[in-house]
Amino acid sequence: MSAGEVEPFEPGAVVHFDPEACGPCKLRPSCTQAASGKGRSVTMGDDERLRQRLRSRLQSRAGRAQLRERVGVEHRLAHLANRQGPKARYRGTRRNLFDLRRLSVVQNLEVAARYQLAA
Ligand code: SF4
Repeated sequence: MSAGEVEPFEPGAVVHFDPEACGPCKLRPSCTQAASGKGRSVTMGDDERLRQRLRSRLQSRAGRAQLRERVGVEHRLAHLANRQGPKARYRGTRRNLFDLRRLSVVQNLEVAARYQLAA
């Protein structure tokens, strides 16, 4: 026996491969760490179809362009998160929104200062 086993799956469920197929399989060492006498098990997320659609979108030109837009935003958010830390400073949305804006102003001033130094 070897690879090529196919099992049907439902999103959000765990798929169990036949132990009798996995046992003698040559690919077993690189495929699964399941105990002897057990087959490989794969957990499918509830949103597996959405994930597959998004992964295939990343292969398209439009998808990669959209990802590049997102990278810029994520980069700036990472700077803010690095400055702020993993927790909100205050209780309540209003104060934390104010804090986020304050952090953004400081961040933007630092960027402006760097541009000024470079000029
Ligand atoms: S060990 Fe992996 S590759 Fe081999 S039959 Fe099982 S699931 Fe398929």
